[in-house]
Amino acid sequence: MEPQTAGINATLSERFEQINRRIASLARDAGRPPEDVRLIAVSKTHPPEILRQAIEAGACEFGENRVQEAEAKIAEVGRERVRWHLIGPLQANKARRAVRLFDVIHTLDSVSLARRLDRLCVEEGRDELSVLIQVDLAGEATKSGVSEEDLPQLVEAVKACERLRLSGLMTLPPFFVDAERVRPFFRRLRELRDKLESDGAFDNQRGALSMGMSHDFEVAIQEGATLVRIGTAIFGERAANE
Ligand SMILES: *Cc1c(COP(=O)(O)O)cnc(C)c1O
Repeated sequence: MEPQTAGINATLSERFEQINRRIASLARDAGRPPEDVRLIAVSKTHPPEILRQAIEAGACEFGENRVQEAEAKIAEVGRERVRWHLIGPLQANKARRAVRLFDVIHTLDSVSLARRLDRLCVEEGRDELSVLIQVDLAGEATKSGVSEEDLPQLVEAVKACERLRLSGLMTLPPFFVDAERVRPFFRRLRELRDKLESDGAFDNQRGALSMGMSHDFEVAIQEGATLVRIGTAIFGERAANE
């Protein structure tokens, strides 16, 4: 049996490789090609030198949850070798900087934010911006994300935006120690994606499914994740931030 995670003394590059192998084997078990699942290394709280080590190990997609923190790191690490994903909530007053900085925004959750991002793309001379809609499947008032009920309206609004490309759906389910308990949330997100896909919401592509973190990415891949967002299992524990 392959261990779930590399030992405590493993280097960043050993952990990164091990996660990649695990992702590939889970994808194959689910009857999907390994390249169907992309690993986003969640680098929030970690300094640029650690990100450079991750790049050396082969990382090419980073996830950050704060615009300001990401801005400083992107200035140091650059955009040539890396795609930057915003995975944290986006406030209106940071939207312009997000349009300048990020390749993909995973946390679109309102019609007003969609329209603002579209307008800012025009102002900033950006031809297109990939967005995922964050869906709040647990109805947790404290979490961001659009409710399932309001999802169709937001999808229509994004489709009406000239510069936004709807790339898929994202969810952040409640935390359970037993990752099996998140399976219904991941499954539900996939069903929503499938429905939208058959309605042509994703410009003739399959919609991405951004779901799964260090403790539950295995279940997420079994349920169809195409983007997994993994921090702790690659970089180790974070000092308190969120
Ligand atoms: C921090 C974060 C992650 C990564 O969490 P880990 O448990 O460290 O893998 C994934 N998604 C979002 C939205 C996050 O904020």
